[in-house]
Amino acid sequence: MKVAGDWLDHPGTQALVQALETAGHKALFVGGCVRNALMGVPVSDIDISTDAPPEAVSDIAETSGFKPVPTGIDHGTVTVVAEGKPHEVTTFRRDVETDGRRAVVAFSDKIEEDAQRRDFTMNALYADRQGTVIDPLNGLPDLLSRRVRFVGDPETRIREDYLRILRFFRFHAAYGDPAEGLDPEGLAACAALQEGLDGISRERITAELRKLLAARDPAPAVAAMSHAGILTRILPGADPRALAPLVHLEGSQEPRWERRLAILGGTGIGEALRLSRAEERRVDTLRQAASSVHTMAALGSVHGFRLGLDAALVRAASLGTALPNDWEKDIERGSYTPFPVTAFDLMPALQGEALGAKLKELHESWLASDLTLTREDLLKGA
Ligand code: ATP
Ligand code: MG
Repeated sequence: MKVAGDWLDHPGTQALVQALETAGHKALFVGGCVRNALMGVPVSDIDISTDAPPEAVSDIAETSGFKPVPTGIDHGTVTVVAEGKPHEVTTFRRDVETDGRRAVVAFSDKIEEDAQRRDFTMNALYADRQGTVIDPLNGLPDLLSRRVRFVGDPETRIREDYLRILRFFRFHAAYGDPAEGLDPEGLAACAALQEGLDGISRERITAELRKLLAARDPAPAVAAMSHAGILTRILPGADPRALAPLVHLEGSQEPRWERRLAILGGTGIGEALRLSRAEERRVDTLRQAASSVHTMAALGSVHGFRLGLDAALVRAASLGTALPNDWEKDIERGSYTPFPVTAFDLMPALQGEALGAKLKELHESWLASDLTLTREDLLKGA
């Protein structure tokens, strides 16, 4: 079995791997790039696994004229920028000690040991510089049938790092067979050991949830998480029922995770997750929009185009209604149609608070008219 693609042919990538080989080391592509290439999914970042210790990786990279950056030196990772392209080069590792959150690792020169500490069989595939796939744990059949399975005993692997519970759902959402359920053994282990998630930092939980919700269709995985009690453990009060209708309504819209988070609801997102202020504000806006009565154009006017689209989708999904014809066009129109009245139109007759109140009232009438009232209509009423 072979992989191919522009990522593999990149001159910087080829030169870096060749330099490691010339120095007498093994250097293999691993993880996301091999998995995605095998599945025909675009490859984003390049991970390379090697038996060269990190100092040797840095030296070899430098001698070849590339820039090594010690991005994670204590766990063996050097980022090497070769011909403008970053590569995460990590020395083969094995776990020495785990506590459910982080691992103490030792470097290894055995690919089998490196493969054993990876989370899922589809993530434990390697490829050499020519694209020949190396499969130390027989993960290929799982990958080809799109089955997300833990490497080794699921319970043991989860106890080593409880974040793997969320990764299980995330990888199923992204790469699993949509027609098949989750691997029953893995799912049962996640359900049984979910308490361990309480010890995982909000940052790591948020990062995984973000990626899970950005999958094309996260609804089946989130429903399974909810059924197992894991959804409300990380997001108290969350309800997955409107997520599938939302994904359906989205059609070919970009799968935005904030919109999906908004539809899950729940209490105290700010405490449960680690979001930026702007993200929290947008999610909040979307939840409030779910109970607004604005027309499509008014949504575009109040929230702008992109957030307006999200608001319309979240509202329709939570009410179980369809989106009107031309909804996108109307939101777009609303997003660039200016409110025709300014403060100057009402001055000097009105001043201060009275002026503010009148403007607000006129703005609301204008929104309620689907942005059809003209300046003259509005001022006549004033
Ligand atoms: P993507 O970057 O597209 O989300 P990826 O597979 O590259 O997918 P990363 O999180 O970048 O995912 O991890 C790279 C590889 O490292 C994984 O494929 C897996 O082999 C291993 N890995 C990452 N996190 C863990 C973990 N918590 N436990 C075990 N192995 C892990
Ligand atoms: Mg990656």
